[in-house]
Amino acid sequence: MPAIHGLNKTTLLDYPGRVAATIFLGSCNFRCPFCQNSGLVLHPADEPTISEEEVLSFLKKRQGILEGVCISGGEPTLASDLEDFIRKIRALGYPVKLDTNGTRPDILKHLTESGLIQMAAVDIKACPDNYPSLTGMLHPDLDAVRETVDFLLHANLDYEFRTTVVKELHNENDFIEIGQWLKGAQAYYLQAYKDSEEVLQPGFSSYSLEDLEHFRDILHQTIPVVGIRGID
Ligand code: SF4
Repeated sequence: MPAIHGLNKTTLLDYPGRVAATIFLGSCNFRCPFCQNSGLVLHPADEPTISEEEVLSFLKKRQGILEGVCISGGEPTLASDLEDFIRKIRALGYPVKLDTNGTRPDILKHLTESGLIQMAAVDIKACPDNYPSLTGMLHPDLDAVRETVDFLLHANLDYEFRTTVVKELHNENDFIEIGQWLKGAQAYYLQAYKDSEEVLQPGFSSYSLEDLEHFRDILHQTIPVVGIRGID
Protein backbone atom coordinates (compact mmCIF):
# COMPACT_ATOMS: atom_id res chain seq x y z
CA MET A 1 0.00 0.00 0.00
CA PRO A 2 1.24 3.53 -0.67
CA ALA A 3 2.32 5.77 2.21
CA ILE A 4 -0.67 8.07 2.63
CA HIS A 5 0.27 11.26 4.43
CA GLY A 6 -2.87 13.32 4.18
CA LEU A 7 -6.59 13.25 3.46
CA ASN A 8 -8.56 16.39 2.72
CA LYS A 9 -12.06 15.08 3.28
CA THR A 10 -13.93 17.63 1.17
CA THR A 11 -12.70 20.09 -1.42
CA LEU A 12 -14.32 22.06 -4.20
CA LEU A 13 -10.96 23.19 -5.56
CA ASP A 14 -8.93 20.10 -6.40
CA TYR A 15 -11.17 18.28 -8.90
CA PRO A 16 -12.82 20.79 -11.27
CA GLY A 17 -16.60 20.56 -11.22
CA ARG A 18 -16.71 17.91 -8.49
CA VAL A 19 -17.00 17.75 -4.72
CA ALA A 20 -13.96 15.62 -4.00
CA ALA A 21 -11.60 14.24 -1.40
CA THR A 22 -7.85 14.65 -1.90
CA ILE A 23 -5.28 12.07 -0.85
CA PHE A 24 -1.63 13.09 -0.40
CA LEU A 25 1.18 10.61 -1.05
CA GLY A 26 4.80 11.24 -0.04
CA SER A 27 8.15 11.65 -1.85
CA CYS A 28 9.07 13.62 -4.93
CA ASN A 29 11.78 13.57 -7.59
CA PHE A 30 11.84 17.39 -7.81
CA ARG A 31 12.85 20.02 -5.25
CA CYS A 32 10.86 23.01 -6.44
CA PRO A 33 11.91 25.90 -4.18
CA PHE A 34 8.30 27.17 -4.07
CA CYS A 35 6.84 23.75 -3.11
CA GLN A 36 4.01 24.05 -0.58
CA ASN A 37 4.47 20.51 0.79
CA SER A 38 8.11 20.57 1.86
CA GLY A 39 7.61 17.93 4.56
CA LEU A 40 6.22 15.39 2.08
CA VAL A 41 9.12 16.08 -0.28
CA LEU A 42 12.13 16.35 2.05
CA HIS A 43 11.38 13.85 4.82
CA PRO A 44 8.21 11.88 4.06
CA ALA A 45 9.15 9.13 6.53
CA ASP A 46 8.81 11.66 9.39
CA GLU A 47 5.32 12.74 8.34
CA PRO A 48 2.24 11.19 9.97
CA THR A 49 0.50 8.49 7.95
CA ILE A 50 -3.09 7.33 7.53
CA SER A 51 -3.78 3.68 6.76
CA GLU A 52 -5.19 2.64 3.41
CA GLU A 53 -8.06 0.90 5.24
CA GLU A 54 -9.02 4.14 6.99
CA VAL A 55 -9.03 6.08 3.71
CA LEU A 56 -11.03 3.43 1.84
CA SER A 57 -13.51 3.11 4.68
CA PHE A 58 -13.98 6.90 4.68
CA LEU A 59 -14.55 6.85 0.91
CA LYS A 60 -17.05 4.01 1.28
CA LYS A 61 -19.04 6.02 3.84
CA ARG A 62 -19.09 9.04 1.53
CA GLN A 63 -20.38 7.20 -1.51
CA GLY A 64 -23.21 9.27 -2.98
CA ILE A 65 -21.86 12.45 -1.33
CA LEU A 66 -18.38 12.82 -2.80
CA GLU A 67 -18.14 12.96 -6.58
CA GLY A 68 -14.47 12.20 -7.10
CA VAL A 69 -11.07 11.53 -5.58
CA CYS A 70 -7.92 13.50 -6.30
CA ILE A 71 -4.55 11.83 -5.73
CA SER A 72 -1.81 14.35 -5.10
CA GLY A 73 1.53 14.63 -3.36
CA GLY A 74 4.47 14.82 -3.40
CA GLU A 75 4.65 12.99 -6.68
CA PRO A 76 2.10 10.16 -6.59
CA THR A 77 3.48 8.30 -9.62
CA LEU A 78 6.53 7.35 -7.53
CA ALA A 79 4.37 5.07 -5.31
CA SER A 80 5.00 1.52 -6.52
CA ASP A 81 1.52 0.29 -5.58
CA LEU A 82 -0.35 3.29 -6.96
CA GLU A 83 -2.24 1.20 -9.52
CA ASP A 84 -3.63 -1.22 -6.91
CA PHE A 85 -4.65 1.67 -4.71
CA ILE A 86 -6.48 3.42 -7.55
CA ARG A 87 -8.21 0.14 -8.48
CA LYS A 88 -9.62 -0.01 -4.94
CA ILE A 89 -10.89 3.58 -5.20
CA ARG A 90 -12.39 2.93 -8.63
CA ALA A 91 -14.13 -0.18 -7.24
CA LEU A 92 -16.01 2.18 -4.92
CA GLY A 93 -17.32 3.99 -8.00
CA TYR A 94 -15.26 7.19 -7.83
CA PRO A 95 -13.73 8.99 -10.79
CA VAL A 96 -10.05 9.65 -10.03
CA LYS A 97 -7.94 12.68 -10.87
CA LEU A 98 -4.16 12.38 -10.72
CA ASP A 99 -1.88 15.34 -9.97
CA THR A 100 1.63 14.86 -11.37
CA ASN A 101 4.78 16.73 -12.30
CA GLY A 102 4.82 14.84 -15.60
CA THR A 103 8.06 12.91 -15.08
CA ARG A 104 6.50 9.43 -15.30
CA PRO A 105 4.70 9.41 -18.68
CA ASP A 106 4.58 5.59 -18.85
CA ILE A 107 2.59 5.44 -15.64
CA LEU A 108 0.25 8.20 -16.75
CA LYS A 109 -0.33 6.44 -20.08
CA HIS A 110 -0.94 3.09 -18.44
CA LEU A 111 -3.42 4.50 -15.90
CA THR A 112 -5.22 6.38 -18.67
CA GLU A 113 -5.39 3.45 -21.06
CA SER A 114 -6.59 1.14 -18.27
CA GLY A 115 -9.46 3.52 -17.49
CA LEU A 116 -8.13 3.99 -13.97
CA ILE A 117 -7.96 7.77 -14.06
CA GLN A 118 -10.55 10.16 -15.48
CA MET A 119 -8.54 13.36 -15.24
CA ALA A 120 -4.94 14.52 -14.88
CA ALA A 121 -3.46 17.80 -13.73
CA VAL A 122 0.12 18.25 -14.85
CA ASP A 123 2.48 20.89 -13.48
CA ILE A 124 4.38 22.88 -16.04
CA LYS A 125 7.07 24.42 -13.90
CA ALA A 126 8.39 26.99 -16.39
CA CYS A 127 9.59 27.26 -19.96
CA PRO A 128 12.01 24.40 -20.75
CA ASP A 129 15.18 26.45 -20.19
CA ASN A 130 14.04 27.44 -16.71
CA TYR A 131 13.23 23.92 -15.52
CA PRO A 132 16.47 23.52 -13.53
CA SER A 133 15.91 26.62 -11.39
CA LEU A 134 12.19 25.92 -10.93
CA THR A 135 12.64 22.25 -9.99
CA GLY A 136 15.79 22.59 -7.91
CA MET A 137 17.41 19.89 -10.09
CA LEU A 138 20.49 20.39 -12.27
CA HIS A 139 19.17 17.94 -14.84
CA PRO A 140 15.40 17.52 -14.52
CA ASP A 141 13.99 14.91 -16.89
CA LEU A 142 12.51 17.36 -19.36
CA ASP A 143 12.18 14.69 -22.06
CA ALA A 144 9.77 12.85 -19.79
CA VAL A 145 7.72 16.00 -19.20
CA ARG A 146 7.64 16.64 -22.96
CA GLU A 147 6.41 13.08 -23.51
CA THR A 148 3.65 13.63 -20.94
CA VAL A 149 2.59 16.85 -22.66
CA ASP A 150 2.57 15.21 -26.11
CA PHE A 151 0.54 12.32 -24.78
CA LEU A 152 -2.10 14.51 -23.17
CA LEU A 153 -2.43 16.80 -26.18
CA HIS A 154 -3.66 13.77 -28.13
CA ALA A 155 -5.20 11.59 -25.41
CA ASN A 156 -8.85 10.92 -24.79
CA LEU A 157 -8.66 12.18 -21.21
CA ASP A 158 -9.73 15.33 -19.38
CA TYR A 159 -6.67 17.23 -18.26
CA GLU A 160 -5.30 20.58 -17.30
CA PHE A 161 -1.82 22.04 -17.23
CA ARG A 162 -0.92 24.52 -14.52
CA THR A 163 1.94 26.66 -13.33
CA THR A 164 2.51 28.12 -9.90
CA VAL A 165 3.71 31.59 -10.79
CA VAL A 166 6.49 33.06 -8.63
CA LYS A 167 7.55 36.65 -9.18
CA GLU A 168 11.24 36.01 -8.47
CA LEU A 169 11.41 32.88 -10.70
CA HIS A 170 9.21 33.51 -13.75
CA ASN A 171 9.15 36.23 -16.37
CA GLU A 172 7.07 37.07 -19.42
CA ASN A 173 9.23 34.90 -21.67
CA ASP A 174 8.24 31.78 -19.69
CA PHE A 175 4.63 32.31 -20.71
CA ILE A 176 5.42 33.12 -24.33
CA GLU A 177 7.32 29.82 -24.57
CA ILE A 178 4.78 27.81 -22.57
CA GLY A 179 2.07 29.12 -24.91
CA GLN A 180 3.95 27.67 -27.88
CA TRP A 181 4.78 24.41 -26.08
CA LEU A 182 1.19 23.73 -24.98
CA LYS A 183 -0.50 25.08 -28.12
CA GLY A 184 -4.04 23.71 -28.44
CA ALA A 185 -4.17 22.28 -24.89
CA GLN A 186 -7.61 21.77 -23.27
CA ALA A 187 -6.98 24.07 -20.32
CA TYR A 188 -4.17 25.84 -18.52
CA TYR A 189 -4.17 27.62 -15.16
CA LEU A 190 -1.86 30.22 -13.67
CA GLN A 191 -1.75 29.69 -9.92
CA ALA A 192 -0.61 32.62 -7.81
CA TYR A 193 2.20 31.70 -5.42
CA LYS A 194 1.37 31.93 -1.71
CA ASP A 195 4.18 32.19 0.80
CA SER A 196 4.08 30.18 4.03
CA GLU A 197 6.33 28.42 6.51
CA GLU A 198 5.56 25.12 4.74
CA VAL A 199 7.24 26.28 1.52
CA LEU A 200 10.51 24.53 0.76
CA GLN A 201 12.35 27.84 0.42
CA PRO A 202 10.05 30.50 1.93
CA GLY A 203 10.24 34.18 1.06
CA PHE A 204 9.08 34.37 -2.57
CA SER A 205 6.22 36.61 -3.68
CA SER A 206 3.36 36.63 -6.16
CA TYR A 207 2.80 38.76 -9.23
CA SER A 208 -0.15 41.18 -9.08
CA LEU A 209 -3.50 40.25 -10.64
CA GLU A 210 -2.76 42.71 -13.44
CA ASP A 211 0.53 40.94 -14.26
CA LEU A 212 -1.14 37.51 -14.17
CA GLU A 213 -3.86 38.81 -16.50
CA HIS A 214 -1.12 39.91 -18.89
CA PHE A 215 0.39 36.40 -18.85
CA ARG A 216 -3.10 34.95 -19.32
CA ASP A 217 -3.60 37.08 -22.41
CA ILE A 218 -0.32 35.81 -23.88
CA LEU A 219 -1.29 32.18 -23.25
CA HIS A 220 -4.81 32.71 -24.54
CA GLN A 221 -3.42 33.27 -28.03
CA THR A 222 -2.68 29.53 -28.32
CA ILE A 223 -4.74 27.86 -25.55
CA PRO A 224 -8.54 28.21 -25.61
CA VAL A 225 -9.14 28.03 -21.84
CA VAL A 226 -6.71 29.90 -19.56
CA GLY A 227 -7.61 30.76 -15.96
CA ILE A 228 -6.07 32.39 -12.92
CA ARG A 229 -6.32 30.80 -9.49
CA GLY A 230 -5.40 31.72 -5.97
CA ILE A 231 -5.47 35.50 -6.06
CA ASP A 232 -7.81 37.53 -3.83
S1 SF4 B 1 5.90 21.35 -6.16
FE1 SF4 B 1 5.30 19.26 -6.73
S2 SF4 B 1 6.93 18.56 -8.08
FE2 SF4 B 1 7.74 20.31 -6.96
S3 SF4 B 1 8.79 19.46 -5.18
FE3 SF4 B 1 6.68 19.96 -4.56
S4 SF4 B 1 5.53 18.08 -4.85
FE4 SF4 B 1 7.45 17.87 -6.01
